[in-house]
Amino acid sequence: MVNLKINGIEVSVPEGSTILQAAKVANVRIPTLCYLKGVQCVGSCRMCLVEATGARGLVAACVYPVSEGMEVRTNTPKVRKSRKTTIELILSTHKKKCLSCVRSMNCELQKLALEYNAEEDRFGTDHDLKPIDDLSASVVRDNSKCIMCTRCVAACNLQTVGVIGPKHRGYAKVIGSPFDVSLAHTSCVNCGQCVVACPVGALYEKSNIADVWGAIVNPEKKVVFFTAPSVKATLGEAFGLPVGTNVEGKMVSAIKQLGDVKCFNMDVTADLTIMEEAHELLHRIMNGGVTPMFTSCCPGWVKFAEHYYPEFLPNLSTCKSPQEMFSAVLKTYYCQKEGIKPENLYVVSVIPCTAKKFEITRDELGHYTDAAITTRELAKMIKEAGIDFANLADGEYDTPFGVASGAGAIFGATGGVMEAALRTAAYVLGGKGAPIEFKEVRGVRGVKEAEYTVGGSTVKVAVAHGLGNARKVLEQIKSGKKDYTFVEVMACPGGCINGGGQPYVHDEIRNSIDLKTVRAQALYDHDSDSKYRCSHETPAIEMLYKEFLGKPLGERSHQLLHTTYTPRDKY
Ligand code: SF4
Ligand code: SF4
Ligand code: SF4
Repeated sequence: MVNLKINGIEVSVPEGSTILQAAKVANVRIPTLCYLKGVQCVGSCRMCLVEATGARGLVAACVYPVSEGMEVRTNTPKVRKSRKTTIELILSTHKKKCLSCVRSMNCELQKLALEYNAEEDRFGTDHDLKPIDDLSASVVRDNSKCIMCTRCVAACNLQTVGVIGPKHRGYAKVIGSPFDVSLAHTSCVNCGQCVVACPVGALYEKSNIADVWGAIVNPEKKVVFFTAPSVKATLGEAFGLPVGTNVEGKMVSAIKQLGDVKCFNMDVTADLTIMEEAHELLHRIMNGGVTPMFTSCCPGWVKFAEHYYPEFLPNLSTCKSPQEMFSAVLKTYYCQKEGIKPENLYVVSVIPCTAKKFEITRDELGHYTDAAITTRELAKMIKEAGIDFANLADGEYDTPFGVASGAGAIFGATGGVMEAALRTAAYVLGGKGAPIEFKEVRGVRGVKEAEYTVGGSTVKVAVAHGLGNARKVLEQIKSGKKDYTFVEVMACPGGCINGGGQPYVHDEIRNSIDLKTVRAQALYDHDSDSKYRCSHETPAIEMLYKEFLGKPLGERSHQLLHTTYTPRDKY
């Protein structure tokens, strides 16, 4: 351990720690901009400069190591002046359209500018506006607001996609893709991890809010929303509630106050996905089909496989994602049942995910979803409607797609799809009394492995979250070092609870708690409190198979609930 003082507070931290880590232990806040825990630590923005004995000049706390007896001062006049100047220099090239910016009131630069009384125009303004890239179905880049922190680049590199980086030199330097092509024309997988890493309004999702408001006031349209499993665990953050608060009831009430709309629960088609996927897995095992089978509910992972590992496409489950299963069921079964023409039903999915915005544009999925809005977009709509979210009474989902299982809910966390599928596979093979909890696949380790005996057969499973971890698993399978039966992959670190469409969380919170773990716990609590723990038990699933689908992997399921994949080039 190394002993030092920060602002006079004695602290003891492991050798090799940085001043920033030691300050956290001492409960002293040092502002950061380019630093993001688990994503990037390069000491380039100079916001975290501090005075430290033994150092020449100010040092960057995020990268400077502690030493025995060191005394650190984080708020001297010299430090404050330096930070103020840094912010003013950043502002000199920043498009300061703060009032209408997507990040206004939630911008890390704006917050620091206020804290340090930075002057907007001290170094003049360089409003050489750069083109906005909005050709992608999911992500918009406005480089006139970019502060060159490179957090987005680090996030994309962690995903081992790496389609963005710094280009040119000096004042001409911008972040973009090679040869100035739009992000839409690269092998970007639309995961949005760059968006949630960005501290300012330079990256944001392609918004569908105007389309949804338009449908709500269109008398010819019946509008139905359905909400993805993880949204209940994150939406509250956009209204100041603590991270990890389950706001399912308030969320349903708020959606119903947006207009004459119905609100369904996407956990129902997470259950449906499990019914199809668990039966597909058993079918592959029993009939010598291609294994390991990979999950296919994450469109970020699916596009990654199409670009980078097309040789594994036969291994992907043919199941559509819960979003696409829900929309297909609504535009067929639900429309027939309710006497609605499919073209008059406007289907809105509320998702944690920017990749699902791309997913709805895929021809092979039938274009059943009309709009996909992120958790952030839903929060914006609720605010635009003037709804007092925090004080709403709990509402209930509409029938017949309201009640789902806890297995459907845990879909939103890494390992959740695997555990849900194992519950149903174990039941199909072992009947009543089959195990419910498979805790080895829970948690935030990058790759989780386990071996289970299901109905007398040994099933070797792996769970990877974050595409860098997925790549490791794929390479090990390719080289013959690993052999699995079933593999779950989610593109975002932690799964959908940490998706690219989730509420922005400032670096100082992200740097002090593990968002993934706290948000996931809300879903596991929801699961343990659920009346039904397994996908095959719920009334909605029973009804769907009895009245419409027949049986898992039946003819109608194949038409509506399964899909195909296409190899894509790498750019
Ligand atoms: S959306 Fe994902 S893959 Fe695309 S640029 Fe951003 S981080 Fe990279
Ligand atoms: S787009 Fe955002 S995250 Fe990327 S470098 Fe610019 S400011 Fe940083
Ligand atoms: S992990 Fe979830 S949020 Fe992230 S890309 Fe996949 S489906 Fe979307």
